[in-house]
Amino acid sequence: HEMKVRKMEKLSMVGELAAGIAHEIRNPLTSITGFAQIIKENANDALTKEYLEIMLNELDRINKIVNEFMFLAKPNDTTEFKETDIKELILHVIKLMEPQTNINSIKVNAKLESSIIAVCDPNQLKQVLINLIQNAIEATLERNKNINIVLKSGKEENYIIQIVDNGSGITEERQKTLFEPFYTTKEKGTGLGLMICRRIIENHHGTINVNSRTNHGTAVTVTLPTYCNAAKFTDKI
Ligand code: ADP
Ligand code: MG
Repeated sequence: HEMKVRKMEKLSMVGELAAGIAHEIRNPLTSITGFAQIIKENANDALTKEYLEIMLNELDRINKIVNEFMFLAKPNDTTEFKETDIKELILHVIKLMEPQTNINSIKVNAKLESSIIAVCDPNQLKQVLINLIQNAIEATLERNKNINIVLKSGKEENYIIQIVDNGSGITEERQKTLFEPFYTTKEKGTGLGLMICRRIIENHHGTINVNSRTNHGTAVTVTLPTYCNAAKFTDKI
């Protein structure tokens, strides 16, 4: 257990440092990308164009990683805890994802209990939902194309959000490393989505659990307290 705590502390320090560096990288990255685009547009030979295309793709990748870390670097005072209608928040995120689910013919079924009002930072919770639904979409692209989202009351003033897909599933071996930064099985993945989810959920004093079977699908369960003392929410995420 001690080992695990120390590992988490180390990861959190590394995360903070990386978030700071990400912030500094952003400006030069933007200007390099801009110049690369101009050079590509003005290039006369095919080979130069091709190389610049590769450069721009790689720059895009760095940009994605930097942006995800930037989210972690946001200072405390931008987190805002307030009473939120969780059903409305989930419906809002489902709408946001519609271009992606529609274009891939993915069916989203939502079973959402009404009048769950909870104290949370709605922007952060939105980020959690986007990351989890994004993973569910990516897991079902090849098969089934069904995602179930459930919201229900739990025990002791908790509420539960479940994102269930019937996609590729995750092997037992891989389930151990899911939350580690940069762990990804996707060509265009960053491996930061789940780490960010866990940070946000822990900052809300909740838990996240992944249940998965290879070739059957994955259920991610998030349990959060409905009301908690907002003064407790001072940890940096
Ligand atoms: P990314 O999506 O950029 O790869 P994440 O942290 O969001 O990073 O996820 C890490 C890895 O966990 C993914 O690459 C994938 O292998 C696995 N994973 C997460 N969610 C699911 C899911 N719903 N179904 C199957 N695999 C998943
Ligand atoms: Mg992801």
